[in-house]
Amino acid sequence: MILLDLNIEELKELLAPYDCRSFRAQQVYKWLANGCDFSEMSDLPKSLRDKLGENHTAQPIVILESIKSKDSSVKFLYRLIDGNIIEGVFMPHDYGNTLCVSTQVGCRMGCEFCASGIGGLVRNLSAGEILGQVTAVNRFLGGNVSDRKIMNIVLMGSGEPLDNFDNVVKFIDLVSAPYGLNIGKRSVSLSTCGLTEKMRELADLGLGVTLSVSLHATLDEYRRKLMLIANKYSVTDVIAAARYYFQKTGRRVIFEYSMVKGVNMSFLDAKRLAELTKGMSAHINLIMLNKVEGKNIAGCTKQEGERFCEKLRELGVSATVRRSMGSDVAGACGQLRRSRING
Ligand code: SAH
Repeated sequence: MILLDLNIEELKELLAPYDCRSFRAQQVYKWLANGCDFSEMSDLPKSLRDKLGENHTAQPIVILESIKSKDSSVKFLYRLIDGNIIEGVFMPHDYGNTLCVSTQVGCRMGCEFCASGIGGLVRNLSAGEILGQVTAVNRFLGGNVSDRKIMNIVLMGSGEPLDNFDNVVKFIDLVSAPYGLNIGKRSVSLSTCGLTEKMRELADLGLGVTLSVSLHATLDEYRRKLMLIANKYSVTDVIAAARYYFQKTGRRVIFEYSMVKGVNMSFLDAKRLAELTKGMSAHINLIMLNKVEGKNIAGCTKQEGERFCEKLRELGVSATVRRSMGSDVAGACGQLRRSRING
């Protein structure tokens, strides 16, 4: 059993045959959240540590590489117990350091511009494997549960979080648990390519996480060129589900919009975006595409991006061009993993 997969109740049950005193679970949980292995759990009797180590695993991932970018973001490459490799990126921000985590090995959504989907989906990550990215990086940066180095989490690494719904919801519970890392659910952002049934299910759970929706186009015809999933869900459906999320939770919804010259940046696109997001609290996050090997999609220049952003603002839409981080260290979704599994 991977102990980081468990919540405190489950951990209590697992520990009962070894030591049924209830404080043990809290002790062990704190060590786990600090990114430690059994051998480091110094307030536990050695015999208990040994027994646990024989039968279970504490941390499900190890950091294989860390590469610091010129802009101070750090790209991480991790190895899972079964040898699979995943990645993430740490972004220092004035408003709180943010860790971008992966939710799947690979991805089956097949977006045209994205490196994560190139080899398809390998498997889902467990809740503990998602949490393990946070515990490992927090520790790597010198943090622990009482002195956290990570304030915000974005589920924007490889994978589609809503395609791994149960594990992702459990991860959100675990990462926000007061006896663990205690990162508030409101400090978690979940990014989806727009799986509408699951967006509604998430809204109904009322977790209070921020929802980001990768919209990328205002017309189905163009969205289908960029995203395979657009064949299943129309722009109208995706917007309706986002609106439901806003109505149900009162949380502002973020729309991610990768700018592709000649495809989705006209004045009409800006007008349609304004129309689609009218009447809900929304923000448009305009993305400058990172170039991906083997993908022939041209983004736009910074100037063109700024001009499109201006058009939106003139129409009364809240919009910013996303500060791109880590492009010199393959910061975008799935790029580093691909470069390593290919080489
Ligand atoms: N599957 C989820 C989360 C992972 S992708 C989703 O689709 O939202 C996180 C964000 O990165 C998405 O908005 C995605 O469209 C964007 N992205 C993917 N590849 C990119 C690239 N090459 N350059 C810039 N952004 C990219």
